[in-house]
Amino acid sequence: MVANISIICPGCADGVRVRIAVGHESVQRFYVVCPRCDSALRCQLTTDADTGVLLGLEVDDRPATQLGWVESPVVNVFADLPIDPAALSMEQPGGSPFLMHLHHLGEPFHAWLSNRGAFEGLVRESWRDVSRWWGFYVKCDWNRFDHHARKYWRDDWPTNPTALDRHDAIHRALEVTFAPVMVKRGFVAWKLALVAPRPDTNWKAAAAFAGAWADDDVAKAQAELFGVLDQFVQQRWNWYPGLVVGLYEELGVGFDPSWRITRDDFRDLRDLFAVTFERSHQYLPALMSLDNSFRLGDPNLYPDRTVRTRSSMQTMRSVDREKVIGLYECWGPEIVGILDRHLRNAIAHSTADHDLITGRIVAPKLDLTYPEFVAKVANAIQVPLLLLEVFKYVRILQESRVESNRQGD
Ligand SMILES: [Zn+2]
Repeated sequence: MVANISIICPGCADGVRVRIAVGHESVQRFYVVCPRCDSALRCQLTTDADTGVLLGLEVDDRPATQLGWVESPVVNVFADLPIDPAALSMEQPGGSPFLMHLHHLGEPFHAWLSNRGAFEGLVRESWRDVSRWWGFYVKCDWNRFDHHARKYWRDDWPTNPTALDRHDAIHRALEVTFAPVMVKRGFVAWKLALVAPRPDTNWKAAAAFAGAWADDDVAKAQAELFGVLDQFVQQRWNWYPGLVVGLYEELGVGFDPSWRITRDDFRDLRDLFAVTFERSHQYLPALMSLDNSFRLGDPNLYPDRTVRTRSSMQTMRSVDREKVIGLYECWGPEIVGILDRHLRNAIAHSTADHDLITGRIVAPKLDLTYPEFVAKVANAIQVPLLLLEVFKYVRILQESRVESNRQGD
């Protein structure tokens, strides 16, 4: 639904026509740059979630003064898609962001819309259940876990599940949930590179590595990494528009740098990126050690044939750690690119902000538009997902060790 509202700009006291595509959130935050005086107006539209009826509009934290029809350029607002701010009416190219992206991206744009719908549907229907289910998994509360698994997988859940069935089922649920919003290649290829069996895969070394992990530490890692995914879910409307930007990159179609995202979720997304960066850096040494065990037969032997202990990897500065991560051809350089340290440092600075007038991130030594920033945050979801795979393998390897010891008795 589209709402055409004329408001008084508090900057120039003139009327401005705003054409708002009402999104799926009952409270929709956006900003408008006044076409007359260039003031940035922060707005909040409240609608009835079921009927779509408008309940209120605030401009700069005050109830908006709404007018009848006024002579004014139209400002387009889309909460879900990047827009072309230069298009001032529907008749101009770019006047409809939907048609504009369809024109540039073709069928993949349709596919993306339906994927986002699938993700949104899954999240609304079952994310809270999956979170609860995950809690039982981390605590090894198998009675309750199996009860949830039966609900989630219905006919697909065996009567007498094995430990492997359980590890597989809960991680498959995460993959099914997040697959629709991973627009760039990455996770699936990394996962395959990590665990694809090869003739020289050293299972014994991997089992020894897994055995060195205390149960509490594994549970903590799984809970913390899941917590990052949960934050992505809670903030999904903030980063959905970034997926469209990512789609342009993935398809090699130029994303016009003048296009805007008319939401302003900078602070929330900054914090989400920061927590993803910190948590990922905390657990990336486990990923590297697992890979080292599989390929080189020693968790502390790195691909450059240097020995590094777990504690030295933990205390290393991230600038040095990312050089080591880069040694893993199949996923290292990509992950270093995604966990952009320069971005992390720049937005941590207290002056960092989203300049609504220029549509750029203002931060020391950073040259980035807001849509590029949102795309980077959206893409980072893949890293915690990969790290959860690592701890799944740690647990499977721990259990198979116990099992083979038992058989050896
Ligand atoms: Zn104005």
